[in-house]
Amino acid sequence: MATLEDYPKIAAGKVRELHAIDDEHLLLVASDRISAYDFVLDSPIPDKGRVLTAMSVFWFDLLADLVPNHLVAWDDERIPAEVRGRALVVRRLEMLQVEAVARGFLAGSGTRDYTATGSVCGIELPPGLVEASRLPEPIFTPATKAAIGEHDENVSYEAVVAEIGPERAAEVRELTLALYRRAAEHAETRGIILADTKFEFGVLDGQVVLGDEVLTPDSSRYWPLEGYAPGAAQPAFDKQFVRDWLTSPESGWDRASDTAPPALPDEVVAATRDRYVQAYELVTGRSFADWIA
Ligand code: ATP
Ligand code: MG
Repeated sequence: MATLEDYPKIAAGKVRELHAIDDEHLLLVASDRISAYDFVLDSPIPDKGRVLTAMSVFWFDLLADLVPNHLVAWDDERIPAEVRGRALVVRRLEMLQVEAVARGFLAGSGTRDYTATGSVCGIELPPGLVEASRLPEPIFTPATKAAIGEHDENVSYEAVVAEIGPERAAEVRELTLALYRRAAEHAETRGIILADTKFEFGVLDGQVVLGDEVLTPDSSRYWPLEGYAPGAAQPAFDKQFVRDWLTSPESGWDRASDTAPPALPDEVVAATRDRYVQAYELVTGRSFADWIA
């Protein structure tokens, strides 16, 4: 049985790590770390890595007819016991340096850009939209892949063309929108709004392949459909307890300060863990108890 030490670490993000298995395969490991307000918190959320991994696997399957993906295995002898259930064996891809974002609703940097310019990534939107408005149709709003600690920056479609060429750019845009549409439609039947999401694509044997994690709460905005009301920020399906507590007087944390947030109380950790499990079960219709332990 393999151990994690067998596989050299080739990259580490805020919450995930990438290890090399061989020339063709990587191990994508999700931790239980959680970030909020751009900080990785001191308190891990138990099972978060397993929930997000299980969710990615569900979506890869549901989207498989739209585009090939990098998933090879989620439970075989190449996966070390210590990360079983929260690691995927994937094909190594030549990643395209584009964050392929699709938005069906206005939020976050989308709202900021729209408010300032009336458009997002050069796509003009009708006047009168507010925070959390549903867009007339989903739009492709690419971003640059920022170095660690930097923010991704929204860019125009032309910038993507300049980066990966006109044919690849068109393909990535069409795939991103098709994947978003399929996923948002499914989510809505399950009582969840998929406001936006980010995909990453790579190339293998000259073909565009879907990589990275897909449609997890870390790469997507999930909102409860119930109570949806444009005009204000919608509660996040997954992180709202964390955000609410951090910004409450109880936490003693000042968001405007540059200091790291305090550790989360046990009940906030437990409630958030339950939220992730609930999100998984709602989205997939599967029981988390059935995912590999
Ligand atoms: P963060 O998401 O914390 O801002 P990050 O994006 O650098 O940082 P992760 O998302 O944790 O870090 O790491 C995943 C990395 O692995 C990304 O750089 C992603 O492009 C890359 N990646 C995902 N799938 C593959 C693949 N099949 N082949 C090669 N690289 C991949
Ligand atoms: Mg990432």
